[in-house]
Amino acid sequence: MDLELSTREKELAAKGRAFCDEVLLPLELITDEHGELPMEKRAAVRQAVRDWGLAGINHAKEHGGLGLSMVEQTAIEEQLGRVTNGLWSCVWRAPVSLKSGSPAQIDQYLRPSIQGERRGCFAITEAEAGSDPRRVKTKAIRKNGQWLLSGEKWFVTSYNASDFIIVHAHVDDDPDKPTLFLVDKPVANMVHLRSPKFMHNFAFDHAELRFEETPVPEDRMLGQVGQGLELTKDWFVEARMQIASHTLGAAIRAAEIANDYATTRHQFERPIRDFQGVEFMLADMAVEIFAAKSMLYRVAAEIDRGLDRKVVHAHASALKLFCSEVAGRVIDRALQVLGGRGYMRENPVERLYRDIRVDRIWEGTSEIQRVVVGGQIRKRGLDIYSGWQ
Ligand SMILES: Cc1cc2nc3c(=O)[nH]c(=O)nc-3n(C[C@H](O)[C@H](O)[C@H](O)COP(=O)(O)OP(=O)(O)OC[C@H]3O[C@@H](n4cnc5c(N)ncnc54)[C@H](O)[C@@H]3O)c2cc1C
Repeated sequence: MDLELSTREKELAAKGRAFCDEVLLPLELITDEHGELPMEKRAAVRQAVRDWGLAGINHAKEHGGLGLSMVEQTAIEEQLGRVTNGLWSCVWRAPVSLKSGSPAQIDQYLRPSIQGERRGCFAITEAEAGSDPRRVKTKAIRKNGQWLLSGEKWFVTSYNASDFIIVHAHVDDDPDKPTLFLVDKPVANMVHLRSPKFMHNFAFDHAELRFEETPVPEDRMLGQVGQGLELTKDWFVEARMQIASHTLGAAIRAAEIANDYATTRHQFERPIRDFQGVEFMLADMAVEIFAAKSMLYRVAAEIDRGLDRKVVHAHASALKLFCSEVAGRVIDRALQVLGGRGYMRENPVERLYRDIRVDRIWEGTSEIQRVVVGGQIRKRGLDIYSGWQ
């Protein structure tokens, strides 16, 4: 068993960290104050992603991506997770579901998205459909050689940074026919209802959209009728790996800040780390990070060696659940070690505290991950988690 990162993996981690420190961290406060990354900063960050060789981190070379292994991607993503305000999303990850597109869709959507010339956002969730996508009411009806989409979508992340939307709709209003559509912006008969404020201030918005018989050309269906959930599943594994990496990076940054502060802050004539109440918090933070990091790189390595897709899915759920909850606990303790300073908006730990809360909600809530884990134990036995696959 080799638990060492290779030289290349270490180099990629160092590049991710340097990019985060030099390009993204200077944008944190302005993004928090402004509510999102100001428009005038966006082109320069996009160019920086290209200049640093970080365009297409999650795609194969055949489509113009970097061809990185999952461990290599994870090494970069962990470092990007250190930044607050969702600025990690400036390093685009073209949707994996686009790989299932027709040759024309791959040329028109996937390749330019990998280069950062185009960007797509996902519209699955609705007012009545969150954890349970069968409740989606957005429908697609084929009429006169085109599709007409009708319905309302919520929480469409990065809508204002995107030029196309991947919309999950039920063909003929039939929940057995979940299907994805590529909707180019601007499009007729689609209304941007609003982009509400959230607990975090994120690089881009989270929009609500209404489709009113929005016309979509026939060749903009992604995959086949009924394949929508299947294509979204592939995306879930990748998104859960990214969330696990980002939350770990966030937890480590908070722990580092708390650890330094505990050494320099004096009360009652000694550093506060000399009080066991503080030192035990640091110890608990370190132990949880140690466990989360070990689990993250194990699952990444399993993906690289081609472990069965269903087992990978099961492990990615457990990983997302664990890392997002560890990060919540670690950052909460870090804030406590910092006392009142940790509660100030100018302190990264305060922003991490707000940022990290959503990671227990999006891409499958913690409860849904427990449903997946519980179901896997029932189906395959405890060994799927307690043994070696
Ligand atoms: C900031 C933000 C950005 C987002 N970005 C996107 C995006 O880009 N595109 C997109 O499509 N969606 C997006 N989402 C939506 C997100 O994926 C959903 O919020 C999430 O799936 C949960 O759905 P819900 O909010 O409707 O909660 P619900 O599904 O209504 O859940 C409410 C509560 O019930 C619990 N619950 C539900 N079912 C079960 C069950 N079977 N067992 C136990 N407990 C259960 C949940 O865990 C939760 O605690 C985003 C959300 C947020 C907050």
